[in-house]
Amino acid sequence: MGLALIFSAIEEALDEQGAGQRISRPRRVAGYLAAIGGEAVSWILRIAFDPLLDTRFAYLFFVPAIVAAAALSGLRAGLLATLLGLAGALSIPFLHQGLNPGEYLSAAVFVALGTSIALVGERNLVLGQRAQRAYETISAREVLLRSVLDTVPDAIILIDDAGIIRSFSRAAELQFGWSSREVVGKNVSMLMPAPYRDSHDGYIARYLKTGEPRIIGIGRVVVGLRRGGATFPMELAVGEMTVGARRYFTGFVRDLSERQQTETRLQELQAELVHVARLTSMGEMASSLAHELNQPLSAIANYLNGCRRLLGNTPIPKDLIEETLRKAKDQALRAGEVIRRLRDFVARGETERRTESLHKLLEEASALALVGGKEQGIRVSMAFDPSVDSVHVDKVQVQQVVLNLIRNAIEAMEASPRRELSLTVKPAHGPSAEIVIADTGAGLAPEIAPHLFQPFITTKRTGLGVGLSISRTIVEAHGGRIWVETSAGEGTAFHFTLPVTDGNEVEYE
Ligand code: ADP
Repeated sequence: MGLALIFSAIEEALDEQGAGQRISRPRRVAGYLAAIGGEAVSWILRIAFDPLLDTRFAYLFFVPAIVAAAALSGLRAGLLATLLGLAGALSIPFLHQGLNPGEYLSAAVFVALGTSIALVGERNLVLGQRAQRAYETISAREVLLRSVLDTVPDAIILIDDAGIIRSFSRAAELQFGWSSREVVGKNVSMLMPAPYRDSHDGYIARYLKTGEPRIIGIGRVVVGLRRGGATFPMELAVGEMTVGARRYFTGFVRDLSERQQTETRLQELQAELVHVARLTSMGEMASSLAHELNQPLSAIANYLNGCRRLLGNTPIPKDLIEETLRKAKDQALRAGEVIRRLRDFVARGETERRTESLHKLLEEASALALVGGKEQGIRVSMAFDPSVDSVHVDKVQVQQVVLNLIRNAIEAMEASPRRELSLTVKPAHGPSAEIVIADTGAGLAPEIAPHLFQPFITTKRTGLGVGLSISRTIVEAHGGRIWVETSAGEGTAFHFTLPVTDGNEVEYE
């Protein structure tokens, strides 16, 4: 209080050119009425009590009207009330013994008090108006933000540092199938399938502790869980903000199963999987290879036939037979060379092996393979053992294996009433990680089971039959093994192993 307040009130008043400029007319009128009427009533009351009070409390009676006038309409009404109050108060001593010098001091104190009250009233009005304007601006921004949140096609989910959902946009409601009312206040892990569901709180805690971002500001393709249990591939980007002492994270989610929307993004992702393109060129390659192999093989057959005939001659022309057999051997080597070229083509000479997170690699490949899974109503479950994660591999090649196996599984379940795909990672001897991709499809056709991993074995009308043979080449080139377990009508499970690297843990989110 005191001087500082009065000065700042004066500044405010000058700065704002008086609150009276902007307050409503009825309020201004009410302020002046309070000044004039209030002081008149105060004077009547004081006169009425005069026999009791004599000259005491001459000024006090006139203060409430000043407060009312200043509160209602600020400085001017407050000053008017002060002047009227002063006149009223000075009239009291006149009725008695007349003015004495002490009255001047009382009058000066009254004027100072009245002016202060008027200034404080003015200041309160100015501040009140400012607060009102700020509130209106914030409300307008809030409405704007809401409309933006409700219009953007990406789902926006705001969570706090305990993983609790604070806001859930309209697009998020459509994507996940939950209404904002149902999820706000719950843990965001309800939107993820196992095993992420159980570890998500740990990820946030670790980030808050280490400050090391794994996903914030990076963006990743991950698997989301809709109401009802269906999973879908989604692209997730996370932003961070601090409000007061708390941190909040905003997740932007794009549903990759909406094909049209994501065609562009998918093309980008698929460009990364350059190997897939090789599958198509394998078809063309196969016919030219067949032609190339045909030549040495028929030459070998001819030479051997010649030898057989030469054996009928007497004496046996040993030199000629030896020469013919040598030519047959050369042709066999040529055929071998053609086959070696095929293997090189498939396994790709230069590989880029790095230490990768197996879980992350699988998650990405499965998200990609599952595009369209929604239409087919496939349920995906994942169980990754955290003790086996770090592998030294060519990521693109291994993802191609996973992509092949999942696509085969999805195709195998097309006619099945139950469509469940499970991805499992568990420890195996070696030490290695065993990856199991199991479906509930019709099982393997018995006629192809013995030759499954050989090239050009297919039961599909448009199939090339090279997916599994390439997968085997890749897995074996990485020092692993691939095999299948199947039972008719129950489904098929493809297993493959990859050696794990010890130490040098690669963490994933
Ligand atoms: P393609 O898919 O082009 O036929 P693949 O080498 O990937 O080539 O698969 C070879 C064959 O193995 C398929 O045609 C199919 O008959 C069979 N097969 C592969 N995966 C499965 C599966 N999960 N369930 C049933 N059959 C499968």
